[in-house]
Amino acid sequence: MATVYQHSTLAALMGKVLGGSATLAELKQHGDAGIGTFDGLDGEMIMVDGEVYYMDGEGQIHHVTDMEKTVPFATVHHTSDEKQKVSFSAGNMKEMVSLISDRQLENTFSGVVLRGSFNHMKVRSAPKSERPFPSLSEITHTQREFEKDDVDGVLIGYYSPELYQGTVAAGWHVHFLSDDRTFGGHVLGFDANELTGDLTIFDNYELHLPIHDKEFREHHVDMDGLKEGVAAAEGSQD
Ligand SMILES: [Zn+2]
Repeated sequence: MATVYQHSTLAALMGKVLGGSATLAELKQHGDAGIGTFDGLDGEMIMVDGEVYYMDGEGQIHHVTDMEKTVPFATVHHTSDEKQKVSFSAGNMKEMVSLISDRQLENTFSGVVLRGSFNHMKVRSAPKSERPFPSLSEITHTQREFEKDDVDGVLIGYYSPELYQGTVAAGWHVHFLSDDRTFGGHVLGFDANELTGDLTIFDNYELHLPIHDKEFREHHVDMDGLKEGVAAAEGSQD
């Protein structure tokens, strides 16, 4: 069995529930690879080989060693679970999508860890927000984008079926970290000649909810605006 573990929901983030409600120590019990964000929607998180990295709102990368640091939202998995080797030629976000459709994986959760040389990488990172928390769409307007050519690194991300839109951002949600640990973030688009790595097809989706978090319990989900809001806040650009 291969399990993808998710803490909280995207709808909670959209409902301004941005306070950290799980520790990195808790997350690491459920995976050694993954993505997320920190308390206050503070930057982007990527977990690689069990090590956690934080890309701040200015685009700086920090190695995180304090496992009591908290996250409002994250997805992780164990890379030792059943996985398939995959390789790409001319990788980009469009090919990430065809990777799913070609293998008839639209209705499953999948995860990738892909390494290689990138001709171009475009990422974004959100600045930390303070209470009262702004909406995700307000934050989208303040987050910064960063681009880099000719960079080696690792992509880690998850594909979620359309059916779960709102619980997650349906489609791919991918983060990047350069091998020299100086560049990374939430991936908006990329171009690469050859990426190799692992595709894990999850037959188990574990959703952990912060039931002791007052803001989580009080937030209201706007079902009508959910799809557009998720696409605006979390979508990739190509
Ligand atoms: Zn992200």
